[in-house]
Amino acid sequence: MPRRSPRSKRKAAAAKLPQSPRVRSAPGKSRKSATRSTHATKGARGTAAAGVKPARKKSTRALRGTKSAAASRPPSKSPQAARTRSVQPDPVRVRAIVEQLRELYPDAKCALDFATPLQLLVATILSAQCTDERVNKVTPVLFAAYPDAAALAGAEQEAIEKLIHSTGFFRNKAKAIREACADIVAKHGGQVPRTMDELTALRGVGRKTANVLLGNAYGINVGVVVDTHVTRLSNRLGLAQGTDAVKIEYALMPLVPQELWTLFSHWLILHGRAVCNARKPLCSACPLASHCPRIGVTVSA
Ligand code: SF4
Repeated sequence: MPRRSPRSKRKAAAAKLPQSPRVRSAPGKSRKSATRSTHATKGARGTAAAGVKPARKKSTRALRGTKSAAASRPPSKSPQAARTRSVQPDPVRVRAIVEQLRELYPDAKCALDFATPLQLLVATILSAQCTDERVNKVTPVLFAAYPDAAALAGAEQEAIEKLIHSTGFFRNKAKAIREACADIVAKHGGQVPRTMDELTALRGVGRKTANVLLGNAYGINVGVVVDTHVTRLSNRLGLAQGTDAVKIEYALMPLVPQELWTLFSHWLILHGRAVCNARKPLCSACPLASHCPRIGVTVSA
């Protein structure tokens, strides 16, 4: 086999590489300027060919501080950034929170006054967007005038509206009370049912109202009542995430013993009012501080 010269080897290697079109200089033009015009034409579909300036390439300096720089930046270790992280609720920490709350609020109970399941159902409907104190002022007058489900179902809409006016949203609330009571009379013989399905089938009754009623009037723990306080504290304590009440309820249920579901809700509501308030939680004086990751807390006292 004849030996190949180094020059012929280079030629053979070049032949294997993908070939770029050879640029020939037009008469009267240098090869450099011919190359430039060829590239411009290739990238000019709809741009340079149409007289539109092609986008300029970003300089290295312009790219600094964008994606590559952000990716190489070490994660922030500031306490504030840490408080936006999600924290997995571990059983030991949750148990400590439950025990601490039990000690703090040994007499926790429903803040709405009621003597019968029907009264609690009506009071809970009235408590939407209203304080429990206000509801407790309104219900004695309402129940004196309309003592049972049949009386409330048969009452004039305007008459109920007048009595519950100060609780806000009085038209919707009056309608919800009358319709729920009509269903109770028609389907349950005037007695408030004892199951989640039957309660949520009543017009004007949602899952939260049903949970309040079952837990407090019948002592049946089928879920956790999730209101604005429970939502806020569950997030801050790293027990649940987000603002969807049903998702929060289902996140809390496996963490807390079932027999404590109703109480746990009362505890969080009481702690939310007394210490962990919405605007400026009193973290420095909070007995739960050592178990609390304070998720989302940016200002505290
Ligand atoms: S430590 Fe702060 S954020 Fe956590 S429960 Fe207590 S008051 Fe709320």
